[in-house]
Amino acid sequence: MHRKFDVIVVGGGPVGSTAARICAKSGLKTLLVEEQAHLGYPVQCAGLLSNSAFFECEVSQSSVLNTVSGASIHAGDATCSFDAGKTMAFVVDRGALDHEMGMAAADSGAEIMLKTIASGISRTSRTLRLKGVNGREEISYSMLIAADGPRSSISRMAGIPRAPFYLSGLQCDVKYSVPTDHVQIYPNASPEFFGWIIPMHPERARIGLCGINNVKEHFSEFIRPYKKQVIHMASGTIPLGTLKRTYDDRILIAGDAAAMAKPTSGGGVYTGIRAARHAARVAISSIEKDDFSPSAMASYETFWKKDFGHEIMNGLKLFKIRQQISSKEMEHLISILAHPSIRELITKKGDMDRPSALIKSLLTHPRIIPAHYLIGKAFVRSLL
Ligand SMILES: Cc1cc2nc3c(=O)[nH]c(=O)nc-3n(C[C@H](O)[C@H](O)[C@H](O)COP(=O)(O)OP(=O)(O)OC[C@H]3O[C@@H](n4cnc5c(N)ncnc54)[C@H](O)[C@@H]3O)c2cc1C
Repeated sequence: MHRKFDVIVVGGGPVGSTAARICAKSGLKTLLVEEQAHLGYPVQCAGLLSNSAFFECEVSQSSVLNTVSGASIHAGDATCSFDAGKTMAFVVDRGALDHEMGMAAADSGAEIMLKTIASGISRTSRTLRLKGVNGREEISYSMLIAADGPRSSISRMAGIPRAPFYLSGLQCDVKYSVPTDHVQIYPNASPEFFGWIIPMHPERARIGLCGINNVKEHFSEFIRPYKKQVIHMASGTIPLGTLKRTYDDRILIAGDAAAMAKPTSGGGVYTGIRAARHAARVAISSIEKDDFSPSAMASYETFWKKDFGHEIMNGLKLFKIRQQISSKEMEHLISILAHPSIRELITKKGDMDRPSALIKSLLTHPRIIPAHYLIGKAFVRSLL
């Protein structure tokens, strides 16, 4: 006889832990399955979370290494800096953050199985096959939440096509003296995306970039000045563009598993946790009402799309336009953004997690008009 859970969550990242915590708290018998031996490790993240992303995690301040109030963007000779004069984002130790979120799921009553891989599903008998330290086991579920990250095997097993885009990221921690209040952004360090320097404390920074092609080469070039001070390296993948379908029969897919990261920044914690909340809500109500119909499952997709779907769609357009902007054009764009009235607008309306409103205002700002031809040309190229 198989053990049976109301909800099984696969993946103990921030998204899985949130979904498991909410389901367990509502009284559902919940299992969280994680293939690693430690929740939160290995770290594959720059750990920069907007205020709203950090608060969505519902954690203490114990994982916070630093806070930042602004950013400086550099391209060639052009620099554009803006500063809100107050905390805009948290720099966190992602390992510690994920661990705390996993502990919160356990405290809410979720059972946690570490070093256990979800290796197969039978959708007819609604069982999940597990392989791990305790050997092999088959467990029944009423609802399965797939939060198994960028290489999601659950979405593959459900026959859902892969995400349209994949970014590769490389990052290292370096011993390096930096101002702690600003993140430094370098679009020309990576022609398809951007590079970053994120201050962790006055003598340590995270330096990395994401891209699509020749990522190792761009990274080696970018970190050349700091190469001798490297004390930790990390790499990872960020799927972008969302899956064609984020649900199946009694299965809801959330976070990186559903390619929900923001295409403008690669940040996936905020959208992933928002999706986890919607997934938990649908799982709870389906079990309560004993309604596992296709329309009940589809309501999950309706909820997350209504919440942040437009941000992802708009971000994807910008992501495609960004691919078409050369280093010289980027330098020109940044010099235009450096105008005081535009910087003021960015400071006032900037929202890392919901950038659409700012972008709309920027595109209609009179000082941006000289850039319209450049952006329009890149947009047309992105369509070809
Ligand atoms: C270089 C880099 C920098 C980034 N920087 C930022 C940033 O600054 N801010 C930000 O918001 N986002 C950032 N991201 C993105 C962010 O890390 C992800 O969006 C976020 O971790 C998604 O959370 P998740 O819970 O969906 O997936 P994950 O955190 O990947 O968790 C998935 C979990 O599932 C487990 N798992 C996978 N398959 C199985 C299986 N079959 N059985 C059991 N367990 C399984 C994995 O071990 C993992 O623990 C960055 C990503 C990269 C690569």
